[in-house]
Amino acid sequence: MSQQKDEMKSILDLNLLEVEQLFAEMSELKYRAGQVLSWVYKRHVVEWADMSNLPLRLREKLLSEWAIVTSRIEKVRSSEDGTMKLLIQLSDGQEIESVFIPEKGRNTVCLSTQVGCPIRCSFCASGKGGLRRNLTSGEIVEEILHIISLLPGEAAIRNVVLMGMGEPMLNYDNVLGALRAVNAEWGFHIGARRITVSTVGVIRGIERLAKENLQVNLAISLHGPDDRTRSKIVPARRIAPVKSIVEAARNYFAETRRRVSFEYVLIDGVNSSLRQARDLGQLLKGFPCFVNLIPFNAIEGTALKPPHHRHIRAFLHELELLGIPAAVRASRGNDIAAACGQLAGEVDARRKEHRHSRVGSEAG
Ligand code: SF4
Repeated sequence: MSQQKDEMKSILDLNLLEVEQLFAEMSELKYRAGQVLSWVYKRHVVEWADMSNLPLRLREKLLSEWAIVTSRIEKVRSSEDGTMKLLIQLSDGQEIESVFIPEKGRNTVCLSTQVGCPIRCSFCASGKGGLRRNLTSGEIVEEILHIISLLPGEAAIRNVVLMGMGEPMLNYDNVLGALRAVNAEWGFHIGARRITVSTVGVIRGIERLAKENLQVNLAISLHGPDDRTRSKIVPARRIAPVKSIVEAARNYFAETRRRVSFEYVLIDGVNSSLRQARDLGQLLKGFPCFVNLIPFNAIEGTALKPPHHRHIRAFLHELELLGIPAAVRASRGNDIAAACGQLAGEVDARRKEHRHSRVGSEAG
């Protein structure tokens, strides 16, 4: 009897070598593994039945034992600037969000790596409900396949950023599996220099990533030049002191020669003073990095607000005086809550709806 799709293992959790081993165990020819992965990653075919160069009996066998895509698109919201936010339902009913950001010649996808997030940054909607579970490598890869399914034929994905829901370094092994599928020749074959992993500063993860011989970009969400300021924004206890994080970033650069970027969400009255700009400049001086200043985006349930644009410009100017390359990053998809720190708004809203309708029906 065939298994239920949501109980099946996904072929997307396996790399080329593992698919080859699987086929050897099934007494199938080794090159069939390459054929299968080529259908999925190059031609974006996600139904066994459509893989026309595989023998019918093999397709039927795979269909009964292995899933390709286990999640489904629940809802798509499109912004005026072309940004699309996808609400994706996983096989166990959990929901995540992924974002597509169009830009001439450099379309970008922003992926989630966990359902919820354990870090609970003060400005971020994803962390509000805490961590529910890690995504598998296959589920992370599926986010890309779902986005591709919505694009016109000629549109290609050029950049992949792991900056959606979750802290990638706290789901390290699955994130690494997904990164390899994005980068490998047998996978999406997107260059490492076009892939960015973001972290709030999980040192063990930064050290491991430096040694993977992957050369992906590293983005560190710093948000404060000192521990006191930063702890108001990134409260999780297991995150290291600011100085150790910057040291880990310097080591990452030394090992990979990839420039590290620091993300800094500017929040009025918290981390946006000129003194804090100067402290940030001193902290990063003499190190080839880049600072992205991101004016805070409104999320429900917080009184935080962005600084006045005059103060944002002054903050930037202060960094430039100290020779730190920096830019104010324009948020995309603000009108659909797809901008930085806003993901999970939809998931949360739906959870509330659920709760309310349950309470309503229980009361009734
Ligand atoms: S900003 Fe990132 S690390 Fe912080 S709560 Fe949101 S998803 Fe988690």
